[in-house]
Amino acid sequence: MAKKALIWNEEFETMPRPDLEKLQLERLKKIVAYCMERVPFYRELYTQAGVSADDIQSLEDIAKLPFTNKQDLRDRYPFGMFAVPVSELKQIHATSGTTGKMTVTGYTANDMEVWAETMARVYTAGGVTADDIIHNAYGYGLFTGGLGFHLGAQKIGATVIPVSGGLTKRQIEIMQDFGSTVLNCTPSYALVLAEEAEAMGVDLRKDTKLRVGFFGAEPWTDRMREEIEEAMGLEAYDIYGLAEIIGPGVSVECPYHNGLHIAEDHFLPEIIDPATGEPLGYDQLGELVFTTLTKEGLPLIRYRTRDRTILHAEKCACGRTMVRMEKVLGRTDDMLVIRGINVFPSQVEHVLLQFEELEPQYMILVDREKRRLDTLEVLVEASHELYASGEEAIKETEKKVKEAMRETLYVSAAVRVVEPGSIERSMGKARRVVDKREVGF
Ligand SMILES: [Zn+2]
Repeated sequence: MAKKALIWNEEFETMPRPDLEKLQLERLKKIVAYCMERVPFYRELYTQAGVSADDIQSLEDIAKLPFTNKQDLRDRYPFGMFAVPVSELKQIHATSGTTGKMTVTGYTANDMEVWAETMARVYTAGGVTADDIIHNAYGYGLFTGGLGFHLGAQKIGATVIPVSGGLTKRQIEIMQDFGSTVLNCTPSYALVLAEEAEAMGVDLRKDTKLRVGFFGAEPWTDRMREEIEEAMGLEAYDIYGLAEIIGPGVSVECPYHNGLHIAEDHFLPEIIDPATGEPLGYDQLGELVFTTLTKEGLPLIRYRTRDRTILHAEKCACGRTMVRMEKVLGRTDDMLVIRGINVFPSQVEHVLLQFEELEPQYMILVDREKRRLDTLEVLVEASHELYASGEEAIKETEKKVKEAMRETLYVSAAVRVVEPGSIERSMGKARRVVDKREVGF
């Protein structure tokens, strides 16, 4: 355990708490004034609440400000929450929204710098340096995973292989032939890689130089960590981030694996009671809320992540003074994370309602068998008319629904159209989702 901990930015990452809090307060006042000046949404919100930057005299005063959430972004799609003209953005990303509308994020040149900096901290926390060869299997595209990890790899001067997701067999070959030392991907894909390697007769422990992996973008357990480390002969680091805040780079584990250090000089965390909105202290379970302290393009103040976790403030043996968040312990809403992609049951319903030949009775089944990717299956009832027209017509509808799902959710789902009346009716709130993933790991 007594490892020499590498730190990318000693000045900020090990800043004494009183100095850090002073910096956070300064930045908080500045961002509140910045948002009020540039974003009509914040101007109206704060004017209505009767607050302004002058009311922020301590970090605790942040509680005077109203919360923001995903719906605010959705309502102002695509650029209504931005603080700069689109022409000043260097890069735009997006995640799927609840009813087909995406949540859009964008970065100014300075935001790209902050992103690269926080990702450089991530790599360095895992002991990765310019000498490493980074196998980046996160998806490249609108999803922030691929390009975020790419950016950080460039920042630390490492060699990056932008392999992206898929073509698993080829990934194993590349790892061996190119000498990959670092692996980035979702934890469930890491298990798929491990299984494929085994099937190919490749021992990842001996036949590759893998030594470190960064896994996140979906919930995973310590059991999975052990399995990945065992199969790949690497040290697994948990990472956390969300597109609205910056993408990956919000927090990462250090070699002590006792929680994820948040880049607090850029992202101010709070824990609140999800029911009342009241601030909770350290060591208490609640909903994680972030304020971006330095972002220019899409600054967010008191943004509710809906992720449930606990913050710890005791100093870590690695030397970092930044607070640690525990692994995310679930959601305060009904969002599902399937293979790293956010899926809301309302999105599924939205797709199904477009088909007149279907009844609005459905069930969403999520599973993850050992060493397999997450599976998403949607059961939906046929109308009496469709059901009477035979197997061929049902198959055809299943195909069409599957395509529509893929277009809206960005994730493939198995679709099964079933007999009218066959899905169990509930007396109260319909139980639409059965997520079996917690069991078995
Ligand atoms: Zn630490």
